[in-house]
Amino acid sequence: MEPLTEQEIRAAFVNCSKGEATRLSVPRDLADRPWDDLDFLGWRDPQASDRAYLVAELEGRPTGLALRTSAPAFGQTRRSMCSMCLTAHTGGVALMVAARAGKAGKQGNSVGAYMCGDLCCSLYVRGRKDAGAGARLHETITLEEKIRRTVGNLAAFVARVTA
Ligand SMILES: [Zn+2]
Repeated sequence: MEPLTEQEIRAAFVNCSKGEATRLSVPRDLADRPWDDLDFLGWRDPQASDRAYLVAELEGRPTGLALRTSAPAFGQTRRSMCSMCLTAHTGGVALMVAARAGKAGKQGNSVGAYMCGDLCCSLYVRGRKDAGAGARLHETITLEEKIRRTVGNLAAFVARVTA
């Protein structure tokens, strides 16, 4: 994806107030992020362990989601799978819950998805980050197809938030 500035990121959020978007913590190392290998920028709030954010460029413009999340489950031995990139982790998948955009969100409606707890799906798909033995399915599809599938899953999640 194209690199984003802090201003672009703050302006992209669709499911929180302008005030929240102004205050939320944006990564300070934006210049060092591996943008060429990212399908979306995702990060956890270093000040609030139950908050995470993601910004994806969909249909040519950045769309940001504020998420509530559980802390990674330490001691968990069961493998679970990220519903975006289909990487399996032991204890490294978290439920990410997004308030729906607009009136629905104000009425308390939300949608959730299980995702890589560090929101690094793009790097797991490309093999730039390793989730351990057996983390990847043995598949015959190409990397491009895996990327397209991840982006499609993410777009579907964003669409459920903004619908
Ligand atoms: Zn993932």
